[in-house]
Amino acid sequence: MDSERVGTAIIGGGIAGSAVAYYLAEQGESDILLLEADELGSGSTGGSFGGVRQQFSTPLEIEFSRRGLEFWRTAARVFDSAVSWHPNGYLFMTGRPDIMAKLADAAALQQSMGLTDVHVVDPAEIREVVAWIDTAGLLGGTYTPNDGKVTPTEGVAALIKAARAHGVRYHEHWQVRSLERAGSVWRITGPGVVEAGRVVVCTGYWTTDLMRSLGLELTIRPQPLYSAITGPALAGRRVPLTLDMDTGFVVEREGKGLLVAILFEENPPGYGHTQFLEQFAELARVRAPSLVDLRIARQVVANVDMGGDGHPYVGLVEDGLWMLAGFGGHGVMHGPPVAELLAKMIAGRPDPTIDLAPLSPWRRPGSGAEWMVAAKKS
Ligand SMILES: Cc1cc2nc3c(=O)[nH]c(=O)nc-3n(C[C@H](O)[C@H](O)[C@H](O)COP(=O)(O)OP(=O)(O)OC[C@H]3O[C@@H](n4cnc5c(N)ncnc54)[C@H](O)[C@@H]3O)c2cc1C
Repeated sequence: MDSERVGTAIIGGGIAGSAVAYYLAEQGESDILLLEADELGSGSTGGSFGGVRQQFSTPLEIEFSRRGLEFWRTAARVFDSAVSWHPNGYLFMTGRPDIMAKLADAAALQQSMGLTDVHVVDPAEIREVVAWIDTAGLLGGTYTPNDGKVTPTEGVAALIKAARAHGVRYHEHWQVRSLERAGSVWRITGPGVVEAGRVVVCTGYWTTDLMRSLGLELTIRPQPLYSAITGPALAGRRVPLTLDMDTGFVVEREGKGLLVAILFEENPPGYGHTQFLEQFAELARVRAPSLVDLRIARQVVANVDMGGDGHPYVGLVEDGLWMLAGFGGHGVMHGPPVAELLAKMIAGRPDPTIDLAPLSPWRRPGSGAEWMVAAKKS
């Protein structure tokens, strides 16, 4: 079996692992090897909708969003790479007074943190933005016109290109089967053996299984999200990512067509595309009648990294072993900035403005959960 020794091994080449690779190298760390079981960007990152929004409810996530928006808006220039940015906006709507109050509180918090581009809207204002929505039964929502949508794999490609320019290497089709301490190094076994002084685990929803043997019990799990891309629709109309928080009904722009989905925290038993499309048409009859008979061009399903308390698990697992995973469906927007924060911490130069301690992989679920996961509110 081939064997090699490296300074740092990163396991997992999604947006998190790619960003950790780049930012560690940028911090001056050398001898970095990234190990990816399949192909770079082939996990949740490759299946992601790529929404990037400032609308969150806790100071940490709002700060990650502020930095994530900056990362994606500037990535094309910073990395001299093809990274597209579509400022379509985000619109969350509800007919429930409790959710409306929470949305307004979250908007006030975002504004107090300097993200001023958030608007609390009433049904008439919703109709001004999205005339194709029927607002019957809605109380209002929050609208952030300059949030946007990206192609996550473009970000992976840009980060890997920049990491390679700093000397980072990677192996694809290299699935880690075990990870164990061997004296002063970590022994990683897969198609070969890699011994590393330091390991950073960035394996998305696979992290729960990988960490169990080390005594860390996590609740990150794969949650299949069924969606569909439609033929051309709503030509010339503004289509922010529009989410009815009461039902999980979501519509956003995808090229000349739309991406449509229903966001659940957990799918109903036996759920699949047939049920999804039937239920979407039912919800559309009420909320967006012009979308009842959409031509479906493509059905898509991909696993979201669900679970936990809405915050990622970031930090030291044990001596020489770090992790970054479990973004609860927000890793495209928050992965790059949190990876940068982690890289600075690993390199011994932590960002003095953000304390990552509350995100420790060993934390117990507390009261500070991020509730604004984009899913149906029960
Ligand atoms: C349908 C859908 C819609 C989404 N929409 C959004 C959105 O709008 N905005 C947003 O910010 N986020 C969204 N997300 C969530 C986002 O995609 C994830 O949070 C993010 O991609 C997680 O990145 P990651 O690098 O942690 O994990 P992943 O992208 O899953 O990467 C983990 C990598 O680790 C590799 N790996 C696993 N096990 C091993 C092993 N043993 N050895 C080696 N390699 C291994 C995998 O092959 C994979 O490539 C969405 C996700 C889905 C599926």
